[in-house]
Amino acid sequence: MKFADLHLHTNFSDGTFSPEELVTHAQKFGLACIALTDHDTVEGCARAAAACVAAGMEFISGTELTAEHEETELHVLGYFVDTKNEKLLTEIAKFQTVRQNRIHQMVARINEMGVPIAVESVFALANCKSPGRPHVARALVKAGLVKSLDEAFERFLKKGRPAWVPKSKISALEAIELVHQAGGLAVMAHPGLNRTDEVIPALVEAGLDGIECFHTKHSTAMSAHYLEIADKFHLLVTGGSDCHGFSKGKPLIGGIKLPYEHVEKLKAKVDEQKFSTTDEHR
Ligand code: AMP
Ligand code: ZN
Ligand code: FE
Ligand code: FE
Repeated sequence: MKFADLHLHTNFSDGTFSPEELVTHAQKFGLACIALTDHDTVEGCARAAAACVAAGMEFISGTELTAEHEETELHVLGYFVDTKNEKLLTEIAKFQTVRQNRIHQMVARINEMGVPIAVESVFALANCKSPGRPHVARALVKAGLVKSLDEAFERFLKKGRPAWVPKSKISALEAIELVHQAGGLAVMAHPGLNRTDEVIPALVEAGLDGIECFHTKHSTAMSAHYLEIADKFHLLVTGGSDCHGFSKGKPLIGGIKLPYEHVEKLKAKVDEQKFSTTDEHR
């Protein structure tokens, strides 16, 4: 049996592994195929792809877009996207600017609360274009200003806490379109985590290709529930660990092993889409 992990982060967003380290771990767990899905970036894909070639593994380029539908936040995974697609890169650059501005705003609020974390220390630790709350949390721990990442989120960063700053997000329907125009497949990430079943029909209507049924934070019952939803709406099935390296304790890679038959179905759909777009241009 061959297995895949289609939800992984590196230090190009809020994971701690470099692309090469990630591939080494994937190989250790005997994975045949991985997808890199860093938040709002595709920058790590070229290096991960090269490392996969060297390791004899299959690589799928991807990204995880923070989106919203009628004020509900949800994450859209884009698979097989062309990492040089101009529109994708332009939009992603905007999301990254939003993320960087938000770091300044969150740090300013933490400072107002009398906690002297320097914004430069957060950017130095993040060392990427797609910084997020985990970087602020890690910088606070590193500076000895909080004891743990949990404390940082509980005191400052969780939704509704004093330093939480909402992020303006792309609409989920536009995110699906953005992924499609870059030649990719759009998949709803960890639906069980966001508890957003009511938005699924609208996303399906907009062309959603798949749903992440298997995820570290999905119980067996949740996975079964989303497999039924996939069946009902004719969606492809995906799964991944959502490993962030050592960012949140122990690396999660190896915890989800998606049977490779699902990757084959994804590839068949992406090929089908390619043919239909070529037809249109004839
Ligand atoms: P951001 O993209 O800046 O909104 O940050 C989202 C990231 O923060 C995701 O990777 C989450 O898993 C992580 N995160 C959200 N809430 C918590 C929490 N309470 N403790 C640890 N990490 C969290
Ligand atoms: Zn993350
Ligand atoms: Fe996510
Ligand atoms: Fe993720």
